[in-house]
Amino acid sequence: MAVNESSARLWHRLGLGPLWRERAMLSSPVLVKESRPPPTQLDWEGLERAVAACTACSLCQSRTQTVFGTGSHGAGWMFIGEAPGAEEDARGEPFVGQAGRLLDNMLAAVGLGRDRPGEQAVFIANVLKCRPPGNRNPDAAEVAACVPFLRRQIALLHPRLIVVLGRFAAQAMLASDASIASLRGRVHQVAVGTECYPVIVTYHPAYLLRNLADKSKVWDDLCLARKTYSRLTTDCATRPSDA
Ligand code: SF4
Repeated sequence: MAVNESSARLWHRLGLGPLWRERAMLSSPVLVKESRPPPTQLDWEGLERAVAACTACSLCQSRTQTVFGTGSHGAGWMFIGEAPGAEEDARGEPFVGQAGRLLDNMLAAVGLGRDRPGEQAVFIANVLKCRPPGNRNPDAAEVAACVPFLRRQIALLHPRLIVVLGRFAAQAMLASDASIASLRGRVHQVAVGTECYPVIVTYHPAYLLRNLADKSKVWDDLCLARKTYSRLTTDCATRPSDA
């Protein structure tokens, strides 16, 4: 799915711009004004219950079930996609089916996996927790209603690195109209609450299934992610306060 420029501008007007603003644009973390109280007090269990019961946007009417996310709550890696598709909606898990198998292969290629322990563990979620009917583009109001859940997931997980999959998630995370080609190949910094997180953008596995020639670009992005994660781990391990 794609997000056109007018949608991206609408997200800004809805207040989503400060939510995902890049660190380079910030002098200090920006507190976000939201249309409803964010689930900032919920633990993992409470958050999953809140998502499962959510009726904050019209997508609740057509979903089979919500798709909360999967993986280790202690993971240092977080992968974020767009929204559940038909198979995800049926099974209640993100990235299943052909695109999910490709994602699992991508993860395994850099030593990661949704069922792996420790530093190899990942958590996988989507920006939207319910499937848009017919896999249409989510609209700005749906994104605004659902993003507090993703923000709470990030805050609870406190990942060392976030990898964003596909143009929709990248544009939503970075509040940007830019193409995925221009967002790849560098480390963004995104503020969630008072914390900043490094974010790397790459193509969505579903796109890759249709554009196999871009697999090498994804490999480059995953290598950048690996290198960045290793550097961050080393930096943490050598902080003076830890000595
Ligand atoms: Fe609630 Fe998000 Fe589902 Fe909308 S998409 S009903 S905000 S969980």
